[in-house]
Amino acid sequence: MAVIVQKFGGTSVGDLERIARAATRVKGAVEAGYQVAVVVSAMAGETDRLVGFVNETDPGHDRREYDAVVASGEQVTAGLMALALQRIGVPARSFQGWQVPIITDDIHGRARVSEVRPENLQACLDTSTVPVVTGFQGVTPSGRVSTLGRGGSDLSAVVLAAALGAERCDIYTDVDGVYTCDPRIVAKARKLDKITYEEMLEMASQGAKVLHTRSVATAMNHRVRLQVLSTFTGAPGTLVVDEDEIVEQQVVSGIAYSRDDAKITMVGLPDRPGVAAALFGPLAANDINVDMIIQNISDDGERTDLTFTVAKGDLSRALKMLEDNNDSLGAARIEPDSRVVKVSVIGVGMRSHAGVAGTMFQALADKGINIQLISTSEIKISVLISEDYLELALRALHTAYGLDAAE
Ligand code: ASP
Ligand code: MG
Repeated sequence: MAVIVQKFGGTSVGDLERIARAATRVKGAVEAGYQVAVVVSAMAGETDRLVGFVNETDPGHDRREYDAVVASGEQVTAGLMALALQRIGVPARSFQGWQVPIITDDIHGRARVSEVRPENLQACLDTSTVPVVTGFQGVTPSGRVSTLGRGGSDLSAVVLAAALGAERCDIYTDVDGVYTCDPRIVAKARKLDKITYEEMLEMASQGAKVLHTRSVATAMNHRVRLQVLSTFTGAPGTLVVDEDEIVEQQVVSGIAYSRDDAKITMVGLPDRPGVAAALFGPLAANDINVDMIIQNISDDGERTDLTFTVAKGDLSRALKMLEDNNDSLGAARIEPDSRVVKVSVIGVGMRSHAGVAGTMFQALADKGINIQLISTSEIKISVLISEDYLELALRALHTAYGLDAAE
């Protein structure tokens, strides 16, 4: 019998009525002849509440106890979902991470999964019982509860689907699929029937919030077919698949944006070997990720400007470090700017088509939008612009790449 994994996110299990509704989706798949394993998030808002308790009790808390507390949200929903299934005649039982087990490393708060032993779940499925597994949690080799990082229950679903050899992993959420762009901003955005793993990975890492980035990477590595769909409508959503499953590939499949970046310009840095190393080394050592970087050759061979982006949440820490080190770095000025957004156009079709960047720059120029930074990968072009132009830029690019839905 084919196995599918169904994962329900926080809004899909946000209250008892919603849990009951999600349970009917499980029952539907069981009646369609599947062996179904369920993964649940905590009720929407619950994990934030638990994190708040931990921080209030001890801001410098022991990460192991942080995990013990925050993993509890999923324990509640797993038990409630098993009960809701039993109520409608579907045999079910809950599993916590350690009961599966889902084994992780011991980096508490953002643990990595090292092994999933599927035997207990498979035995449960073979007695026609639905296992309901807590998302987000695992167990360390020394037997402590661990969590996989915020949003990690998508990842739990993917690793279980891989371990069970599932035909598909359905991610039930409050939107009905992956869109060409955020439909709250671009009214003409369209739902995609299919998207490739690589595109989805770029979309997620460039700011699209529908799927957790690491879960897409893991699905890609293990070739787990993912579907993103709405719990509330149950209509077919978006399939995340291999490139060869997509017959007519668009050049650009989607446009993502992120408000999470901030820009720093080091004005008048000495133009000599070792300056970039001296600048970025300490940032990296302090776990501050740098994304886009631009540096021009200096015209006098003496001084040059260097601009880069960091996460907004890291801006003040980064500035402090740069200012503290500026005696040796030697910049004339350090200029931060957090009023910026990053807009990215993404599509595997870029590999084989010329002119994709030109279309982007022209569309922005036509609207009088200044580009501050540019970075590219094989299937993505990102620009940093003023946050005032976000909506205008997204709509203009959506039209320029022919993504608008028909009227
Ligand atoms: N409950 C966890 C969180 O809010 C995991 C998840 O929902 O994916 O981050
Ligand atoms: Mg969530």
